[in-house]
Amino acid sequence: ARKKIIAGNWKMNMTPSEAVELVNTLKPLVATEDADVVFCVPAIDIIPAMEAAKGSNIHIGAENMYYEESGAYTGEISPKMLTDVGVKYVIIGHSERREYFAETDETVNKKVLKAFEHGITPIVCCGESLTQREQGITIDWIRQQIKIAFLNVTAAQAASSVIAYEPIWAIGTGKVATTEQAQEVCKAIRDCIAEIYDDATAAAIRIQYGGSVSASSASELFSQPDIDGGLVGGAALKPDFGKIVNYK
Ligand code: 13P
Repeated sequence: ARKKIIAGNWKMNMTPSEAVELVNTLKPLVATEDADVVFCVPAIDIIPAMEAAKGSNIHIGAENMYYEESGAYTGEISPKMLTDVGVKYVIIGHSERREYFAETDETVNKKVLKAFEHGITPIVCCGESLTQREQGITIDWIRQQIKIAFLNVTAAQAASSVIAYEPIWAIGTGKVATTEQAQEVCKAIRDCIAEIYDDATAAAIRIQYGGSVSASSASELFSQPDIDGGLVGGAALKPDFGKIVNYK
């Protein structure tokens, strides 16, 4: 059986000192053996958050990274900078990166390949807009995002990766997808992985749902056969995150 993975995406919230405070508050609340718990935090918060999380089950991850090793890329963070401090997870291709920072399926693929090269597990984001859902092209769109994101990724790498299905209309809106909608797309993603690779890879890869996950919706969502946890925004900044991690 796949181990659940429940991750927080702090987005552009929490100063370094606030980050330490939040980790200390959440530490006892998210203690569990049943799921992998990851806090993806702003780059400047990574080191203090790791110090604060020491001795706990919390993994500190990044929200983004660049696909080059080093060089003249002002403002970017390289995979080596992340691994040097022990980061093992990075969110790649969040819809906010795509919308505000011009990321594409192609740059997502470059970043995914780079993350694997450095032994970092990518949390690869995909998701449709409200218009796309209304047009009935959700599954086609998601399949295309996945196929490009995983170009030249090996089966073993894919098996170890995480995909986050985040419908854009559900992010930060309080409008969580229905359990049926979330399960349908997460299953379609798993089927797509089986087509690209094989059944064993599809059975191993972990697929999260994200978009207005709350303490009250987590349990039903995470109990679906193809939903292996969540990527949580707003609720990851509150003690509620403890309830989400311990959703059972
Ligand atoms: P919310 O949980 O705030 O809707 O954000 C979801 C998200 O974008 C996580 O990456």
